[in-house]
Amino acid sequence: MIYFDNASTTSVRPEVARVYKKLVEESFANADSMHSPGRKTKRQLEQARAHIARSLGVDDSEIVFTSCASESNSLAIVGYALANRQRGNHILTSNVEHSSTRHAMDFLESIGFDVERLPINERGIVSAQAVKDHLRKDTLLVSLMHVNNEIGSINPIEAIADVVHTHPTCVFHSDCVQSFGKIDIPFQKLDMATISAHKIHGVKGSALLMKKNRIQLQPLVFGGQQEQGLRGGTENAPANIALAKTIRLALEEQEKTYDHVKTIRDTLKTWVESFPGGHVLSPEDALPYILNVSFDQITSEVLLNALDEKGICVSAKSTCDSRSSQASEVILALNHSKKDASHAIRLSFSKDNTLEEAKQFMQAMKEIVENYGLSL
Ligand code: PLP
Repeated sequence: MIYFDNASTTSVRPEVARVYKKLVEESFANADSMHSPGRKTKRQLEQARAHIARSLGVDDSEIVFTSCASESNSLAIVGYALANRQRGNHILTSNVEHSSTRHAMDFLESIGFDVERLPINERGIVSAQAVKDHLRKDTLLVSLMHVNNEIGSINPIEAIADVVHTHPTCVFHSDCVQSFGKIDIPFQKLDMATISAHKIHGVKGSALLMKKNRIQLQPLVFGGQQEQGLRGGTENAPANIALAKTIRLALEEQEKTYDHVKTIRDTLKTWVESFPGGHVLSPEDALPYILNVSFDQITSEVLLNALDEKGICVSAKSTCDSRSSQASEVILALNHSKKDASHAIRLSFSKDNTLEEAKQFMQAMKEIVENYGLSL
C-alpha cells in the first residue's frame, strides 16, 4: 500500500503504540480517584502535561487535554464567545477553515454573533493586513488556521497575532493541526491553539487546546473537575500520557522529516506540471506536506477509486467533508476553475513515505489516464 493521505490521519509510531499499550494495561485507574493507582495515573498525566507545556513554551496550566481537534476548536471558539459576550459581538475567521471551525462559527451566527468570513488571497492565505482592515472595536475573537488542510497554504499567524493584539479586548485562536511538528509555531503569541495527536503519528482520542491562563472559557462538556472544570469526563489518561512522547518525537524529527517530505513533494510537483492535463493547485509557497493537484482527464471520484484499486490512498477533499458530492470549496476559494475543483486530489505525506512510492504513483497515474481518462 502507498499511503499519501497523512493530512487525514497518520500511522501510529511503534514506540508510541508500545507505551500506549502498557499504559492501557497498567494505568487504567481513574486519574481523579484518591487511591494509590489513581494517584499514580494522575502523577503520570501531570508529568505528561508538564513535558508538553515545556515543549510548547507555555505553563502547565495552559494545556487542556481534549478528545480531538474538532473538540478543541469547538471549545476555543464557542467556549470563548459564550464566556466573553460582553466584550463584543464580532468574530473574524476565513472561508477555508476546517469543518469543525466552520460549523462552530455557523452555530455562533445562529445565536446572534456577527461572524465575518474573510476570503483567502491568490496565495491561499489571509494576510495580516486583511485582518487589520476588518478588525472592529467590537471584535471579540479572530480564529484562523495555521496551515490549510486541503492545499497546505500557510497563514502568517505571528503577524496576525501582532495585529489582533493591538486590540486590547480581542484574542486570537489558531488551528495548528496541520502545522504542528512540521514548522515552528509561535505559541508565545497565540491566545489559544489546537493540536491533534493522530496527525503526528499519535493515537486517536487525544488532542489538546493550548489556552493562556488569562482566557476564560465556557465549558461545552459538563461534568466534574477534570481539566480545570473545562471538560468533564474521566480523563483518557493513557492516550494523553502517550501524547507527550508523540509530541517529543515529532519535534525532535521536525527538521529532518521536513526535508525528506519536501524531496518527495518536489519530485511529484515537477512531474504533475509536466504531465499533459496535470495542474498543481496548491500555492507555490505551500507547506510541502500537502500537494493538491488535478488532472483534466479524470474527476476526483473516479481517480480516487482507480488509485485505490492500485493500492494508493489519497483524498479528494478534507476527510471530514469527503461524503459530500460538492466540488472542493477551498479550491474554488483559491479562484481555480470548477473543473479543477471537481478533479482535485490531495496527496499528503509523512516520514514514512519514500521517493520510490512517488515513482510508483507516477506510473500508476499514467496507466489510469490511459485506461479511464477522457481524451484531451
Ligand atoms: N483542523 C484541521 C486543520 C484538520 O485538518 C483536522 C482534521 O482533518 C481537524 C481540525 C480535526 O481533527 P480531529 O480529527 O482531531 O478532530
